[in-house]
Amino acid sequence: MRLDLDAVSVALGGRPILDDVSLTVHSGQFVALAGPNGSGKSTLLRTIYRARRPDSGTVRLDGHDLWAVPAAETARHIGVLMQEQHTGFEFTVAETVALGRTPHLGLFDRFTRADHAAIDDAVERTGLTAFLRRRVGELSGGERQRVLLARALAQQPRLLVLDEPTNHLDLRHQLDLLELVRDLNVTVVAALHSLDLAATYADTVAVLQDGRLVAHGRPLDVLTPETIGEVFGVDATVHHDAGSARFVLRPQCVCPDERCHWSCRTRVAEVSADAG
Ligand code: ADP
Ligand code: MG
Repeated sequence: MRLDLDAVSVALGGRPILDDVSLTVHSGQFVALAGPNGSGKSTLLRTIYRARRPDSGTVRLDGHDLWAVPAAETARHIGVLMQEQHTGFEFTVAETVALGRTPHLGLFDRFTRADHAAIDDAVERTGLTAFLRRRVGELSGGERQRVLLARALAQQPRLLVLDEPTNHLDLRHQLDLLELVRDLNVTVVAALHSLDLAATYADTVAVLQDGRLVAHGRPLDVLTPETIGEVFGVDATVHHDAGSARFVLRPQCVCPDERCHWSCRTRVAEVSADAG
């Protein structure tokens, strides 16, 4: 499913939150959304899954304006994994994952064999078979995150919108989640904080700063020390690694300055020791 954002702007409380964002995601592409806290990532994702109508500009799915087609139809196609989705802690894992089929069901429909197959497949892929009878409220944050992913997968979406999906996950499950999502061959837009993970798994990286899209392209073209420095305020060294990259990051040194970060002081000490 192709996604086109064209000049999308959003203001909240009189303040511009997204400013003229245009972005095309081709069918089957994985786009990582990067940017500091408050740069507008979650707001942008909300405009994509129809939770927030842009004040101006358009969002199109396969060429159709998101707001011109029935909400029930977009709900079938767009799977969502957002942060802090506090939905039904009293439900079991099995019940929660099954909710992923809701957009496909008519009012009085019962699950077909295809619905059960989609649910079983999602449970198996996310490694939740042993958790089916557990209540969601009893799970760890990471386990709960996998349940929400399973629910989104059970929906069999054509576009997957993920907001910091690796939060709460241990290292292995972070990789498992991103491998799984990449191999689904559906269109993915995911806000990711880890530049390493973005460079490893995304086809392209879109960088937001203060609500504006300041860069979009292949990870290694976009995630340069200059851009990382400007957008995140950190000093970056990029180590190229078999088509991917590792980023070594340190706070930008603003010494001598009252706000001097402790790590800068360490470096000033290192530098003067070297000089001596
Ligand atoms: P990110 O996900 O990149 O951290 P968000 O999209 O959540 O950024 O937020 C972008 C900006 O919009 C932040 O400055 C945030 O405080 C502001 N914001 C988010 N929701 C609202 C709201 N309902 N009213 C006013 N400001 C909001
Ligand atoms: Mg956010």
